Amino acid sequence: MAWINEEDMKAIRSQADIVDIIGKYIAVEKSGRGFKAQCPFHDDHDPSMSISEEKQIFKCFVCGAGGNVFSFVQKFENITFPEAVYKVAQMINYPLELPGIQVREKPDPFAKERKILEEYTGYMAYELFSEEGAQAYSQLRERKFDDELIRKFQIGFAPSAGQSEHFFSAKHFAPDDLVNAGVLNDGRAVFVDRIMIPIHDPKGRLVGYTARRTAESEYIPKYINTASTPLYEKGKLIFNYHRAKDAARKSGRAILCEGAMDVLGLEKADLHEGIACLGTAFTGDQLQLIERLKVPVHVWYDNDRAGKKAAYTFGKAAMGRGIPFSIVSNDGAKDPDEVFGQFGAQEVRRIADHTISFVEFLFQYLPDQYNLDNYEDKKAFAQEMNHAIVNTADEFERAGYFSRLKDLTGFDFSSVNASPVQERINKREPRRPAYIPKVQDGRQKAEWIILSSILYSKQFSLRFKEEIGFFKDELYRQLSLYIYDLYRLKDSIDADELFAHIEEEDVRNLLASLVSSNEEPGEELFEDSLWKIKECTISEQIDKINEQIRILRDPVQKVTLAKTKSVLIEERNKIRNRKEG
Ligand code: ZN
Repeated sequence: MAWINEEDMKAIRSQADIVDIIGKYIAVEKSGRGFKAQCPFHDDHDPSMSISEEKQIFKCFVCGAGGNVFSFVQKFENITFPEAVYKVAQMINYPLELPGIQVREKPDPFAKERKILEEYTGYMAYELFSEEGAQAYSQLRERKFDDELIRKFQIGFAPSAGQSEHFFSAKHFAPDDLVNAGVLNDGRAVFVDRIMIPIHDPKGRLVGYTARRTAESEYIPKYINTASTPLYEKGKLIFNYHRAKDAARKSGRAILCEGAMDVLGLEKADLHEGIACLGTAFTGDQLQLIERLKVPVHVWYDNDRAGKKAAYTFGKAAMGRGIPFSIVSNDGAKDPDEVFGQFGAQEVRRIADHTISFVEFLFQYLPDQYNLDNYEDKKAFAQEMNHAIVNTADEFERAGYFSRLKDLTGFDFSSVNASPVQERINKREPRRPAYIPKVQDGRQKAEWIILSSILYSKQFSLRFKEEIGFFKDELYRQLSLYIYDLYRLKDSIDADELFAHIEEEDVRNLLASLVSSNEEPGEELFEDSLWKIKECTISEQIDKINEQIRILRDPVQKVTLAKTKSVLIEERNKIRNRKEG
């Protein structure tokens, strides 16, 4: 295992705030003195994970996951410990050289295509600010793009075909690679006289473009996108996903729009959680990406026929996967960019928040899709509504919806659904019991206290090792071995350093429980627990002897054992009296 210099690790740990870092992955909210979040490590419906800013650890009280900032990143990203430290270092811009770490990435088979896209994007970004791009630039300015937004999204201008081709040959790019990258077709540059908006894959790597014409003409399509290439697979891409995911986790929602321009409209209004699927059919890959954001989705589609249909299509797919979402209700302007242009940022933000449930949306949308004067149609409509109500509405919402559906169609689903509803509730993943606190018998409780004690004091650790030596609980025993190891090198233990050494996840979880329990037992409790364990050990020995006496036939052996037993009982009594006295 690659090792990271202890000084570096300490510095990174002290500069990286666990609340900030976890907040980059999931929505975190203030709660009392600490913070809480929905646990990403089990199917959490409440915020079961608590995050302590003071102790710099997290702990889920349902599934038991816990640890420090590195453990969180390691577990969330499913990477090794050194990789997690490295990742956190990057997040806080801490310069960390890792001579020992192996970069596990395979050589990229599309390195040439990526280089082409990188360089071409840079070239076009430059062109936008040149004389050539003046018209495109002024169009952007008219649409209230400022330079900051243009730079953030690497927006550029594709000049004439000849100029792009000149650039390609000056760079010595191979024609085949240019075709593979989607920028050359039949020997000609694909994008000509267009405003270029780069598209990235979920990891943030450039894969293609959506390109808007600069000249208004009915002969030129308004938008063209990169054609299907090895890198550009439309069904696997969501525009702005790599940038929006952090913002979405922070704001606790994502805003799904129709196109790149809508996302940019949201950006102008200072909303950074906008995403857009490139096309109106939703693939499983795209839904999975959205699901992975673990935040509710606000669906903001155009307020026209096509937009409503797309919202409906998304709603059905999202409902099938249990993705929480609501529909933005915009009666006026069509899309975020238009709203921004006409009414400004405030109004964009207001509308983004102005949502209705999917069922409410269907009550508005579906009656136009069915002929409610026709019995079969009306029945199909009622069934579709019922399905949506059962699958998306909470208990308390249903009664209202069912009575509305009854008023509209005459069909009453309120009693029919008693069982399916129950089924749905039962289908939710049962909660796994928390590791801590669990019912502890006397000995385990004492071992817990000892474990807390030795974590905070080398003195206690030495005494326990000398007088008892081992824990009965296997997990405690594993953790204690790590503790003993560290004490060999130092006089006090830094929990972060200990986290770094522990490779087993359940042992890390145990350590997080210990640290978060806030127990620093002190001398008296330690002594009591030590005696308690001794007493338990003796009791166990007595039980064993009783068992042997029961099976043994030889009377002499029985007498010997009985003597041992009486010594043990006397010893146990001494311990018991000691406590009472
Ligand atoms: Zn959990």
